[in-house]
Amino acid sequence: MPDIRPTVGSGALVLNATYEPLCVVSVRRAAILVLSAKAVCVADGDGILHSARDALPVPSVVRLTRFVRVPYRTHVGLSRRAIFARDGWRCAYCRGPAETIDHVFPRSRGGRHAWENVVAACARCNHTKGDKTPAEMGWRLHALPAPPKGTAWRVLGHRAPDPRWADWLDLREPEAAA
Ligand SMILES: [Zn+2]
Repeated sequence: MPDIRPTVGSGALVLNATYEPLCVVSVRRAAILVLSAKAVCVADGDGILHSARDALPVPSVVRLTRFVRVPYRTHVGLSRRAIFARDGWRCAYCRGPAETIDHVFPRSRGGRHAWENVVAACARCNHTKGDKTPAEMGWRLHALPAPPKGTAWRVLGHRAPDPRWADWLDLREPEAAA
């Protein structure tokens, strides 16, 4: 096993042999895949990794040389961090920086703690809204809350993507409410 010095970096995106994004691994793990010919580097990161015999650019995206069959997790867990990530850390009502989680239909009135009923909100909007609904306040939601979906969520979860991965991940903005 090559002796690869730990390096800075957010990790490397692993693609299947078919170029389908699979997961994110450490840069070190990606380098070992490349050095053992289990993967080829398709996009370089910053810097050079040195092993006892080799030097190779820090991998940012690698593609497996053999196809692997992977069972997919289709459900994205509902966490505070995941809600902020889905909503871009912006308030669903005023688009300001979000610090709190708001239940659109208030929990005190039976609103569910579910992707369809939670949004990121700033403290001011959340406090002003209290136990009212947006309709009662005359407010509009910027976007209809929905479970996150798509390749990027499956691969990244709430991780921030490296911009170099954009070609392989669908990183579109969530759809605006009609
Ligand atoms: Zn707000």
